[in-house]
Amino acid sequence: TKFTDYQLKPYLKKALAALNFYKPTPIQARLIPVIQSGKSVVGQSQTGSGKTHAFLVPIFNQLNELDQSVQAVITTPSRELADQIYAAARQLAKFSPKPIVIHNYVGGTDKQRQIQHLQHRQPQIVIGTPGRIADLVRNQALKTYTVTKFVVDEADMTLDLGFLKDVDFIAATFPEELQMLVFSATIPQKLEPFLRKYMNAPVIETI
Ligand code: AMP
Repeated sequence: TKFTDYQLKPYLKKALAALNFYKPTPIQARLIPVIQSGKSVVGQSQTGSGKTHAFLVPIFNQLNELDQSVQAVITTPSRELADQIYAAARQLAKFSPKPIVIHNYVGGTDKQRQIQHLQHRQPQIVIGTPGRIADLVRNQALKTYTVTKFVVDEADMTLDLGFLKDVDFIAATFPEELQMLVFSATIPQKLEPFLRKYMNAPVIETI
């Protein structure tokens, strides 16, 4: 398979070509069609597998650029990981004819400024750490009732760092009809109640 075999928006094809990405990695080849079909997925995979683009490419491909509401939320347990996902997302959005509003919300940044900004405009794609995103939702600054896609990146690390309660709080504000994508190097037993609560019949892929 090549990226050109997928039905992708022209601006995404251009962004992938600009990155010199021609062939999907194994996890991308397995997951992009499944995510495109709208199914929820648990992907057991390591960093370095190309998982970031495995979820970002279909999220961008299905985004409604004309709809100025929050459509996708991506949580990851560290600021560094959030910055990496944000950079990848910005790069993918680069050639979109309609500007796509993507925000990165992590701890240690100016929350009041973020709240003020959110009164004027909601981002279409939210990336960030669970604690800060949960704070913005709790403040009713970030409006998550329009979300259709939720990515929990590094779910095992999220659990280990004690952030699953924040992820749970965020997820509880989403509509029931939700596509959820969970990525984790391991699937610890303690994660299972959370997965059962939000995912029915997920596709489980181990790469
Ligand atoms: P990740 O596992 O998402 O952190 O990605 C690992 C690295 O692989 C990152 O530097 C990506 O930019 C790169 N990468 C992801 N997908 C591809 C691809 N299809 N072709 C070449 N490099 C890729």
